[in-house]
Amino acid sequence: IVRFENVTKRYGALTVLNELNLSIARNEKVCIIGPSGSGKTTVLRMLMTLERINGGVIWVDGEPLTHVQKRGQMVLASDRHLRRVRGKIGMVFQHFNLFPHMTALQNCMEAPVSVLGLPKKDAEARAAELLEMVGLSGKKNHFPIQLSGGQKQRVAIARALAMRPKVMLFDEVTSALDPELIGEVLSVIRKLGAEHDLTMLMVTHQMGFAKEFSDRVCFFYDGKIIEQGPPDQLLGNPQNERTRQFLSAVL
Ligand code: ATP
Repeated sequence: IVRFENVTKRYGALTVLNELNLSIARNEKVCIIGPSGSGKTTVLRMLMTLERINGGVIWVDGEPLTHVQKRGQMVLASDRHLRRVRGKIGMVFQHFNLFPHMTALQNCMEAPVSVLGLPKKDAEARAAELLEMVGLSGKKNHFPIQLSGGQKQRVAIARALAMRPKVMLFDEVTSALDPELIGEVLSVIRKLGAEHDLTMLMVTHQMGFAKEFSDRVCFFYDGKIIEQGPPDQLLGNPQNERTRQFLSAVL
């Protein structure tokens, strides 16, 4: 459902993604691990079309995300096209990024109403359902400041789901949380993966979670995937020296 084809992203002289190739199957759960600065977050940002790429093509659901086809040629897509395809993808950030002046319920209603044009009543019913799914039906009318970090992150997950994305991206969603709150967020993600047809791509430092949750782990180094495989294999018996070094430092 997602395919990076020779994708390059540069910031000035710095090449952050270097002709990256990555394919993710429908419903697959993929974790990205790797050292700081290796380009993990950039992969997710490119998929969210938060920024333009410098080379290659990203495909989502059989359509080029970053480009349109004109007379057999691939041309960079317009902002309008990007806004349309962006709805297929939901992202949850490290720092929640909730709208502070809106309640949990309003946070989950905003995009469905303003982007999808859903009637308020329908958006509200769906938002309430999703908040219940993440275990927060009692906190619907709370503002972000009245919620714990774990609760905020669960609202952020519900908010992303409200757009009915085909692909969910999670960017180090537990790293800003106190240790005792990490479990509640991971268990919501686990439940989502088990109960819904969702493709998930997650940048994480939680190796234990990656092992138990994902179908595949990709190790990033210098803007490339240098090793990937089933979690047991990649985390338990890495073949590449760099993967071994990284894992021995974090495990
Ligand atoms: P971390 O685990 O620390 O979050 P990462 O693997 O997710 O690291 P990225 O956030 O993808 O790394 O960043 C890769 C590189 O790109 C870093 O060297 C970073 O400094 C650089 N970078 C990211 N965003 C920008 C930007 N907007 N302008 C310039 N450089 C950037």
